[in-house]
Amino acid sequence: MISLLIAGTRLPAKSGATRKIINPATGEFVIEVAEADREDTLLAIEAAKAAFENSIWKTYSNIQRAEILRKTAQILSRDKSQIAKAESLDTGKRFIESEYDIDDVISVFNYYAEQAETLTSRTNSVDRENIKSRIEFEPVGVCALITPWNYPLLQASWKVAPAIAAGCTFVLKPSELTPSTTSMLMDILSEAGLPDGVGNLVLGAGATAGSLLSEHPAVDFVSFTGGVSTGKLLMKTASQTVKKVALELGGKNPNIIFADANLPAAIDNALTAVFLHSGQVCSAGARLLVEKSVHKEVVGEIARRAENIVLGGPFEANAETGALISAAHLEKIENYVANAISEGAKLIAGGRRPVEAHLQDGFFYRPTVLDACHSKMQCVQDESFGPILTIEVFETENEAITIANDTIYGLAGAVWSEDSEKANRVAQALRHGTIWINDYHPYVPQAEWGGFKQSGVGRELGPTGLAEYLEPKHIWQNLAPASSGWFSEGAN
Ligand code: NAD
Repeated sequence: MISLLIAGTRLPAKSGATRKIINPATGEFVIEVAEADREDTLLAIEAAKAAFENSIWKTYSNIQRAEILRKTAQILSRDKSQIAKAESLDTGKRFIESEYDIDDVISVFNYYAEQAETLTSRTNSVDRENIKSRIEFEPVGVCALITPWNYPLLQASWKVAPAIAAGCTFVLKPSELTPSTTSMLMDILSEAGLPDGVGNLVLGAGATAGSLLSEHPAVDFVSFTGGVSTGKLLMKTASQTVKKVALELGGKNPNIIFADANLPAAIDNALTAVFLHSGQVCSAGARLLVEKSVHKEVVGEIARRAENIVLGGPFEANAETGALISAAHLEKIENYVANAISEGAKLIAGGRRPVEAHLQDGFFYRPTVLDACHSKMQCVQDESFGPILTIEVFETENEAITIANDTIYGLAGAVWSEDSEKANRVAQALRHGTIWINDYHPYVPQAEWGGFKQSGVGRELGPTGLAEYLEPKHIWQNLAPASSGWFSEGAN
């Protein structure tokens, strides 16, 4: 049983409600979890507020906060295998992929330890005598950290590590579908020395356990990762108390292959770009743009290889990718493909559930390739968040740029070309937050992550990811106070 964590105490939901977590690869029961509602969330917010205002946490130096982050990284490393197993059971993703995710989580904690150590005030040089002007970077306050189900621990680390580095307190709400590793992280933070009440955990559905987080006046900052419609709702609610928000939302990311690319590498990476974690990746390269002269060669090979991808559970040695998160998501993907075909897309791979007997209890869908697509189609514009690749052709560099920018999203994209100047020109013209040239997917904690347009507001990772959790405060000190002389002193 996983319970809530409020002010350092593990608690059931006040209502006594629970939820059963299901392994998406097998449909089997994984673990029972407390299901919070607004009453529990209120307690968590109050605990975070009390810890921010009154606890010992205020007195921690940057170095002490960095020590907690480093210790967290060490414990994550010690417990990596156990955590990766829990991540795979909740999400259905390959065990090896979960292990890579935990490696990334460790890097994030180490990176923000360094950032905390070097966090300092800034002195301004002002053209006035006897004046000292400095900027202090103070913690923004109580943070609501809301995360999705596709990279549960990684998404949590992108928020928790900078929040601690900055000296904030927080209420963390993971997706109701994948709470296990986030709960493990809370125990690890406590073992690493995080004082009680600094980090609080609420578990449960967004509308009930989550909604108060963007409404309550004691919450200063909401950092949310999830779908665009939820992000819009949170932004609207948060505006009522003028909260700061950071939103990491969806994407429909263009992957552009020019005829002069290293085609074997481009084709191979086009598969990883979209089918990794069965396409349940916000930056998935779900929209392939291919130069017309190599369309037949590229698309034929992608379709052939997509048909050969081996599906399976997290612990199956030969499985190359896993299940979708839920039965509801599987149904959504099926409808998405049916709709794409009805609007004219040509199905050239997948488009069905697998036939293997051992996959029938899980939520699996074959990697799917849809050719003959164009910008006006819904399947090109809407994020599927599943293993679906749409293909469009272009003839010129400008056309590729226009098509790639013809989207409400702007999260990520890639350019494949052996002409470095051209690739960099295109990268600069794309209105997306991350552009890979001759690569797809890698990221580092030093580099900002986030979206243009409706892919989000603000950034995670890098120095900007820490700045989201800080309020700059200007302190002006006059070393030789004197009358301003503006108003007369009056007759009497
Ligand atoms: P979602 O929006 O349904 O849920 C995300 C989180 O918000 C969950 O914890 C959910 O319980 C919570 N939530 C829902 N309604 C809420 C409310 N009213 N108040 C407070 N919390 C609420 O998204 P999802 O289905 O979990 O995740 C998939 C989406 O996340 C995709 O669109 C994907 O592109 C996006 N995503 C983006 C990034 C990124 O870095 N940009 C990373 C991962 C996922």
